[in-house]
Amino acid sequence: MIPLSSPDITEAEVQAAVEVLRSDRLSLGPKVQEFEESVCRLTGSRFAVAVNSGTSGLHLCVKASGIGPGDEVITTPFSFVASANAILFEGGVPVFVDIDPASYNIDVSRIEAAITPRTRAILPVHVFGHPCPMQEIRDIADRHGLAVIEDACEAIGARVNGRAAGTFGETGVFAFYPNKQMTTGEGGVIVTGDDEVARLCRSWRNQGRGEGGSWLQHERLGYNYRLSDINCAIGSAQLGRLPEMLRRRAQVADWYTERLKLVPEIVPPALPAPGADMSWFVYVVRLRDEFSRQHRDRVLEELRGLGIGCSDYFTPIHLQLFYRERFGFQEGDFPLTERISERTIALPFFNHLPQGDIDYICESLRRVVRTLVPQPELDRRVEAAAVDRRAIVMPRAL
Ligand SMILES: *Cc1c(COP(=O)(O)O)cnc(C)c1O
Repeated sequence: MIPLSSPDITEAEVQAAVEVLRSDRLSLGPKVQEFEESVCRLTGSRFAVAVNSGTSGLHLCVKASGIGPGDEVITTPFSFVASANAILFEGGVPVFVDIDPASYNIDVSRIEAAITPRTRAILPVHVFGHPCPMQEIRDIADRHGLAVIEDACEAIGARVNGRAAGTFGETGVFAFYPNKQMTTGEGGVIVTGDDEVARLCRSWRNQGRGEGGSWLQHERLGYNYRLSDINCAIGSAQLGRLPEMLRRRAQVADWYTERLKLVPEIVPPALPAPGADMSWFVYVVRLRDEFSRQHRDRVLEELRGLGIGCSDYFTPIHLQLFYRERFGFQEGDFPLTERISERTIALPFFNHLPQGDIDYICESLRRVVRTLVPQPELDRRVEAAAVDRRAIVMPRAL
């Protein structure tokens, strides 16, 4: 089976983890700060706060933005569920805005129409590592006095006009689950330019303890969102290799895009706007609009049967059961998101995916897709059959 994703772990990461295991500082040790400093160097952010997942990071960012019960946060329905869940954790209300069907990111031209007196923040997601037009989002937020929380969980290393995705907002978050561009096993990191936000996040992640306070003094309601030194040491080793890993991913994406020119039934991922640098998280193609969800599901099933790991990224958040129940969302609410999510196919994508496997995947996809009959083609055949019958019937009647 060719897996959908696979982490890129070398001897450097193994050694880094072993070094921590041989020390007596498995958590709250020096590796956390080293990792955070490396994240600051990479992103140009003033502060970084390592946490135990991207989701915990998003939660603390929402909290740091002062979002409480009934406050509205504008975000995208086409994302991993955690980006909207983080709003719910604090009692906030996600206000979804449909997506740009080219980039799959929130459609910036629709944001202002969604702003109400209760709006507090915009939470854009750099979907699949394709950066959002952050300057435009920043400008809208500034005009309306809103915070920006960037879900950059899929976008470490992505840039907009040279500036790191994740650093345009008051806060931003990267995530390091093993399927991401780089991994710490589990983990995430908050970046911010605000020292007070950084201080609060450090306290919240560590049970509400204050700086330099004693172990059993808790200044505020906190959580255990700490990332261990083992994870952070692995993260520093991965960060050191990130430029090389991102280059490899871009190369794999190019190989796919080149070969998929032979499959006109699918739409490859869009390339970023001029000035923007993509950080390839996954390689997601979609079937053209004349195909249906049933067609897509058949492709997934047949590819899996051929030993190719693949997935349907993403189910729209507004159609997840508890969002429907809680907010009354239904099919048709965000038509572009739905039209795209019904047709996506995430193909195997990782640093060391061999070209021979890419040949096999693309050839398999081409063959499977050719067996599908798109809707207009079906209509044409039905019509042709009707004409045929008339042609046959008419002479007999004469
Ligand atoms: C991975 C991801 C997250 C959450 O990351 P975890 O570390 O798994 O909690 C959040 N948002 C998006 C868009 C993601 O892809």
